[in-house]
Amino acid sequence: MKTEQINIFATSRMQMNESIELTIQSLLAYGTRYDHWCMAWSGGKDSSTLVTLVIWLIKSGKIPAPKSLSIFYSDTRQELTPLQLAVDTISEEIEEHGYRVHAVMAPIEKRFLCYILGRGVPPPSNRFRWCTGALKVYPMEERIIELHAEKGEKILMLTGVRQGESAARDGRIIQSCSKDGAECGQGWFQTSMPDAICDTLAPILHWRVCHVWEWLKHWAPLPEYGDFSTEIIADAYGGDEAEEKNARTGCIGCPLVDKDQSLDILLTNPKWQYLQPLKELKPIYRWMREPANRLRKTGLDEGGKNKQRMGPLTMIARETAFNQIISIQERINESASRLKMPLVCLINAEEEAHIRHCWSINQWPDGWDGDEPTGDVIMDKIYSDGTIFPDLFK
Ligand code: SF4
Repeated sequence: MKTEQINIFATSRMQMNESIELTIQSLLAYGTRYDHWCMAWSGGKDSSTLVTLVIWLIKSGKIPAPKSLSIFYSDTRQELTPLQLAVDTISEEIEEHGYRVHAVMAPIEKRFLCYILGRGVPPPSNRFRWCTGALKVYPMEERIIELHAEKGEKILMLTGVRQGESAARDGRIIQSCSKDGAECGQGWFQTSMPDAICDTLAPILHWRVCHVWEWLKHWAPLPEYGDFSTEIIADAYGGDEAEEKNARTGCIGCPLVDKDQSLDILLTNPKWQYLQPLKELKPIYRWMREPANRLRKTGLDEGGKNKQRMGPLTMIARETAFNQIISIQERINESASRLKMPLVCLINAEEEAHIRHCWSINQWPDGWDGDEPTGDVIMDKIYSDGTIFPDLFK
């Protein structure tokens, strides 16, 4: 008896077409209700799929073009080098298709390293996560408010949030950007944008991760699907094994995750090994959070519950960390110049000037003046009701 063989390539192609078809349907059903669309692009795999796919769908006439399509690249200045390279290259290709990419960046005083090294705010943690809002969500929100004012009507924001088929069927949207495979920020864009000025749609919500890679590595680079250089994104995620490695992307050395998974993967590729000094960032962020490098309230004049809370970085800690980060940048760029590879810019000249200015005016976060003791000084324990428990070892 003749057994029928399954052609896995045909099956995969069919599923891919189904995923694309569902995206088309959602854009036809919801997208056409809005004249003005915008897309939040972080340079990661999901939002890069979204951006290139939507452009191809419009250019190929599969969906009608909105009156305007704004592409906002959320630039944290902390992206992994190959992802930044991919964004620069794909941005040029998007322009060739007739659309412009606008970088959306936090004001200088709120940028990651300026906020830490200039103002003295400690690196973010799971208990004090100031970064996603400051670096990604608020700047994007502001840009969309401007767009809304310019267009005079509600905007449709497309995000690259993706949950796979089963979750999409259930209508579940779980917005975690700390788990593997996620892109920090996408979930926040999906849920945090002001309803009055924009609605959000996740047209690739149902896409499986294998289809994302299929699109980026094999479809989008073809001239008939847009001719995008999306295959370089795979480099940052582990090349041919990107799918299995399922790395999360976000800022280099993100203090909120235990491992620098995407950087570790990248460093296994000889081409990117000159970036090895970036591994030093995470320990520097950890060091900065140590009590000896931060001020602490004595609790004697404080109201509220946490009377003896830990606070900002000492000036010496800021300067020490600054010098270490500049050294990382210089060492990488010496190798980059020799190897003719892309340079890394962790702190640019404008940011350095800003940080030094903050030091020169003795800047401290609100509520701190720099006279507080450091966190390693032994002091009496003061409870929230004002009770003092003397330190017996003092
Ligand atoms: S990647 Fe990490 S450091 Fe960057 S915004 Fe997200 S949580 Fe914050």
